[in-house]
Amino acid sequence: MGVMEAYCVKCRTKVEIKDGEEVIIDTKRGKKKFMMGTCSVCGTKVSRVLGNA
Ligand SMILES: [Zn+2]
Repeated sequence: MGVMEAYCVKCRTKVEIKDGEEVIIDTKRGKKKFMMGTCSVCGTKVSRVLGNA
């Protein structure tokens, strides 16, 4: 898999996800798979949706 990117609210841009791990979260719209990690620039928690789980 290539580099995963997510939007960082602190950097206000897309950043590389550091220490990313896949988690499945039960949302109101069904179970979804997320990539959770930290911003490689500032360390803020970031996440992105990968799809339905
Ligand atoms: Zn950041």
